[in-house]
Amino acid sequence: MIEKQLPFDERTIRAIVRNYPTPFYVYDESAIRASARRLNQAFAWCAFKEYFAVKATPNPHLLKILGQENLGGDCSSLAELVLCERVGISGENIMFTSNETAAKEYIRARELGAIINLDDITHIPYLEQHAGLPEVICLRYNPGPLREGNVIIGKPEEAKYGFTREQLVDGYRQLKAKGVRRFGLHTMVASNELDPEFFVETAKMLFELAVELARDPGVRIEFVNLGGGIGIPYRPGQKAVDLGLVGRRIEQTYREIVVPAGLHPLKIFMENGRCITGPYGYLVTEAIHHKNTYKQYIGVDACMSNLMRPGMYGAYHHITVLGKETAARNHTYDVVGSLCENNDKFAIDRQLPQIDAGDLLVIHDAGAHGFAMGFQYNGKLRSAELLWREDGSVTQIRRAETLDDYFATLDFSGL
Ligand SMILES: *Cc1c(COP(=O)(O)O)cnc(C)c1O
Repeated sequence: MIEKQLPFDERTIRAIVRNYPTPFYVYDESAIRASARRLNQAFAWCAFKEYFAVKATPNPHLLKILGQENLGGDCSSLAELVLCERVGISGENIMFTSNETAAKEYIRARELGAIINLDDITHIPYLEQHAGLPEVICLRYNPGPLREGNVIIGKPEEAKYGFTREQLVDGYRQLKAKGVRRFGLHTMVASNELDPEFFVETAKMLFELAVELARDPGVRIEFVNLGGGIGIPYRPGQKAVDLGLVGRRIEQTYREIVVPAGLHPLKIFMENGRCITGPYGYLVTEAIHHKNTYKQYIGVDACMSNLMRPGMYGAYHHITVLGKETAARNHTYDVVGSLCENNDKFAIDRQLPQIDAGDLLVIHDAGAHGFAMGFQYNGKLRSAELLWREDGSVTQIRRAETLDDYFATLDFSGL
């Protein structure tokens, strides 16, 4: 099997473990900056903005770094809005792509001057009533049966998000009549998609729609937001999406559709999370038990509350045993956490080198939707997050939770 490469070795991680006990997340700053630059570079031919999906990795230090790379923030909750505000991402550098949104969230988004991306036609009067209509509004399109969707996100018709085609026309008409002057068009039909052509198809769909909307109801779309969903190669042997190719193919489509229709310049936005930070974050955990029953189990000190994707989606996350990178993978293990929940397994029937107690395991591709999806079920606490800086130093960017944090919302008085 092809081994996935790590940017660090056992010695580096052992040195970190002396200061920060396992489990912890560690993020590679220079690789994250490089991935943000690659995406910007791929769209340097147009007016482009990537709004990093804050939910993927909601840490202020990482958001600050991404802000320095000219990324905005894509938010969908009050906390995410506040997080952006606190690191200096505000105004139209925030895209507020929420659904089932509460009034107080719209109010905050308006206060911050964020671009509001409405999920439903009934939210036009709701937003107007509670927060007032801003000058610029984006609408989220759900193509329904017109588009296939992909495995994780499922069929668009089954998805709770967005306006139908008819509602979209009606929505822009209503907004125009209410005096809104600037319009965006959004869709999100992919998740963890590795086929570059999928994004070209999405761009084409939105370009054509922008042309149709210019005719009826006569609105000039200022930007299209292609959503997020660029996939990453979780499995060894999978290939990363060639962003340069995606950019060039979308440019070609732009020249074929947008330019002749007189809609140039049309801004292009995206809101990826996974492809920006996913491959550059790692969960480091120690093997603490080896159990031999009907199967061979390696018990580690992290569990599903640190990284839910394998348990929740059956997602593959590659595992490297530090110091045994080149050893033969001649053992079959289930790598498991301590939740009283049988799907708390980071890997099932995985071929790995022999693992001994005290070995350090690195779980790859945990830099997006990893820590962020953590929880406290079973009294498990969330780990620390560390940043491996460009100069080789390591900073803690979130401390591990303590029992005091766990009990902070409980009141034992009067019992
Ligand atoms: C989750 C989400 C994203 C980011 O998805 P990735 O797979 O991390 O790129 C972008 N936009 C919306 C609306 C989302 O819900």
